[in-house]
Amino acid sequence: MPPPEHLGGPTTRVAPRLRRSSEANGPNGVVTVTVQTVLPLRRDAETGRSLPPVQTTVRRSAPATPWPGWARVEGLGDDESVPSPVDDAVDVDGDRAVLSAALFDRARAVTPGGVNSPVRAFNAVGGTPRFMRSGQGAWLTDVDGNEYVDLVCSWGPLLLGHAHPEVQEAVLAAVARGTSYGTPTEPEVELVEEIVARTPVEKVRLVSSGTEATMSAIRLARGFTGRDVVVKFAGCYHGHVDALLASAGSGLATFAVPGTPGVPTSSTELTLVLPYNDRAAVEAAFAEHGDRIACLVTEAAPGNMGVVPPEQGFNAFLADLCRRHGALFVSDEVMTGFRASKQGQWGLDGALEGWVPDLMTFGKVMGGGFPAAAFGGRADVMARLAPEGPVYQAGTLSGNPVATTAGLATLRLATDEVYAHLLRAGDTIKAATSDALSVAGVEHVVQSAGTMFSVFFTRGPVRDFADASRTDTTAYAAFFHAMLDAGVYLPPSAYEAWFLSAAHDDRAVSAVLDALPAAARAAAAAQA
Ligand code: PLP
Repeated sequence: MPPPEHLGGPTTRVAPRLRRSSEANGPNGVVTVTVQTVLPLRRDAETGRSLPPVQTTVRRSAPATPWPGWARVEGLGDDESVPSPVDDAVDVDGDRAVLSAALFDRARAVTPGGVNSPVRAFNAVGGTPRFMRSGQGAWLTDVDGNEYVDLVCSWGPLLLGHAHPEVQEAVLAAVARGTSYGTPTEPEVELVEEIVARTPVEKVRLVSSGTEATMSAIRLARGFTGRDVVVKFAGCYHGHVDALLASAGSGLATFAVPGTPGVPTSSTELTLVLPYNDRAAVEAAFAEHGDRIACLVTEAAPGNMGVVPPEQGFNAFLADLCRRHGALFVSDEVMTGFRASKQGQWGLDGALEGWVPDLMTFGKVMGGGFPAAAFGGRADVMARLAPEGPVYQAGTLSGNPVATTAGLATLRLATDEVYAHLLRAGDTIKAATSDALSVAGVEHVVQSAGTMFSVFFTRGPVRDFADASRTDTTAYAAFFHAMLDAGVYLPPSAYEAWFLSAAHDDRAVSAVLDALPAAARAAAAAQA
């Protein structure tokens, strides 16, 4: 993909002129540097007309190098902390994130935190978020021209890697036919048939995001059962649904409190938040509130506190308990669906143990890199949904023909060989990461759910959110930045799954392995 026009356009890209206009030494070895980036001589690629120069000022402050590459763009209010500006033009070539920092500065002027989803801001690891320009296979290229092996894969969707040629071809053909009709289309039917073929759901409704999927599933569960209470687990994330942005109340079976300002108490006072993998806590909650519980919603294998697999039989236990109490078991497979295995996490437990969820939610992989998600389940439950039934749910772009085409192409290409490859490449990376951290003396545990895995910088096993919270985030930040500097893009937070794709070939895996020993030493040096 060519660089965006404001960076010079495809034919007129020019090197930025960088000027270090001020530098100051603050307390604790903090150095504040103001860098001015000027992008001159831009021409409109089509008309050839010259465009005005772009000028951005970026302020960075860095402590006395706790790890290489650390650079945080500071807020404008920090101006006063620069006691004696030194005007001094310097060459800051070699700084890997100059254009990213300049874009971040511009973004922060017009978008809260400069990002459109919080974790992208690097707040958990410090430093300048990389603005990506293109992706190809297992590799990302940022606006400064740095290349990275991508272990985020758009937070899971890109099972086949970036810009897969067959997915691209299908998408371009779909776009050429038109982008949205607001009518039913054939790709929607085909995508839903593919989901029904791979999972135990009987009927499916398409939506545009995982958040919509879980929100709608809960409404349907409440409408179907005529009950109000929802049970969830601490550390499981189901999108930013008000009722699920909840923190545990003061006792195990007491109702939750809002997890963020903006969520009213009335939205969480019907939510119970329990510790994951804790059968006794779930039994106690159902014993006390069973006849009021509409559904229990859980990540099929949590990946949003790092990967915390369900203990043997835990999902079966939940499904059975729900059935005995007349509540619905909602298995959220937005992350694990078509990712943990060909049949998601359900393929690793339910399919073998012989139970099925009442409702399931999907997203990420099934959208093939486009906004598409779904919820589905028992035919009698789904029949309560409008227009067949009285529970209302709708969406202007639901089942969008471009998104469903991308999802369908992705799922059809997601063969057994793809999952076998993901397992093999994952095993290599997991073993090498663990070895490097052990040699460096960093406490850690690697946990997996099928092809998904993550590395906790704490002693294992991690069974629930309380265990996960003990992770050494300082050591992870050091590890993350060392890997980033070596050209490996890890999740910018210690509590996330690492994602691979079918495109992670030997070259990509070797690049990860090569980066590990130094990153492990950086983590060791930074350990809390
Ligand atoms: N459910 C799970 C398990 C997720 O991991 C996520 C997002 O990461 C969601 C729901 C929300 O999906 P979206 O970000 O598409 O709204």
